[in-house]
Amino acid sequence: MTTHHPLIIIGSGPAGFTAGIYAARADLAPLIFEGIQPGGQLTITTDVENFPGFPDGIMGPDLMDAMRKQAQRFGATTAYEMVTNIDFSKRPFAVTTDSKSYTADALILCTGASAITGGLPNEAELMGHGLSACATCDAFFFRGKEVVVVGGGDSAMEEAHFLTKFATKVTIVHRRDAFRASKTMQSRVLENPKINVIWNTEVVELIGSKETGLTAVTLQAKDGERTNFPTNGLFYAIGHKPNTDLFKGVLDMNEVGYLNVASPSSKTNVEGVFAAGDVCDPHYRQAISSAGAGCIAAMDAEHFLSSQVTSLV
Ligand code: NAP
Repeated sequence: MTTHHPLIIIGSGPAGFTAGIYAARADLAPLIFEGIQPGGQLTITTDVENFPGFPDGIMGPDLMDAMRKQAQRFGATTAYEMVTNIDFSKRPFAVTTDSKSYTADALILCTGASAITGGLPNEAELMGHGLSACATCDAFFFRGKEVVVVGGGDSAMEEAHFLTKFATKVTIVHRRDAFRASKTMQSRVLENPKINVIWNTEVVELIGSKETGLTAVTLQAKDGERTNFPTNGLFYAIGHKPNTDLFKGVLDMNEVGYLNVASPSSKTNVEGVFAAGDVCDPHYRQAISSAGAGCIAAMDAEHFLSSQVTSLV
């Protein structure tokens, strides 16, 4: 059986839930698919210190729970389903999930982005056995151990700082001689006696197996010199890629897969399909900018849906 909704929102990060709040308050009774990571990337972070309204900070999962409740309070429905296919070719759009079929007059895509890893041969084997892309999720397993963090952005700083609560030593391996992270985050890391930085260096090999766990990495300096670096854990913090595989070949995207929207609106190249948050934002990628974009997408969707009704009258 296929269920129809005026508006379906795909994704449950700050963009998806904010779109849900605004759309629900506009009486669109949106259905929000929460996807593979309900609550989005903030559910795997700890303290969120820069979301306005929380002078003492708020835990990421708590913020997302509050956003979900706020959307539900106004009539949004949330579903723990994974969208597997969307037919964009005609309206209403057909949306298939892992368990049901739906149609919608308008869509808001807020599928966010996922962590990038280094692409080394035995990553799949070692993931969860010393290898991770989420310190908040896995740091606990490295109590009393030594770990490496790869990257030089805010995520790497945040992960390294968080890991010092558990690990005895954290080594940041960065491919350049300067971090791109904000000054505040950099200072926090550089002043931490448990954190050491190896500059101008890349991790080129992971040593270990599922049975032994990660035991060491091979580091390669800019001049090509290779060294064996014993470690129990490696955390990638080298950025994210947009979750746009479902939209390939239909929706316009840039060369690395971020959806193109007709700024300052949230309109994609398909009428009735809107996008918000990290899925279409390679630049700012903040919870607050995503929330703002979710609001814009809901208002755009509402205008679109009312124009359809008016044109039928
Ligand atoms: P990012 O800013 O894109 O930084 C990625 C880092 O990984 C860069 O230092 C980059 O090196 C390095 N890198 C990329 N590919 C690599 C590879 N193949 N091998 C080795 N190193 C590689 O990503 P991010 O740190 O995830 O941050 C993304 C956005 O989220 C930013 O806007 C950031 O401000 C925001 N953020 C904010 C907070 C916060 O405010 N609390 C926390 C986390 C993230 P290069 O520097 O050489 O390019």
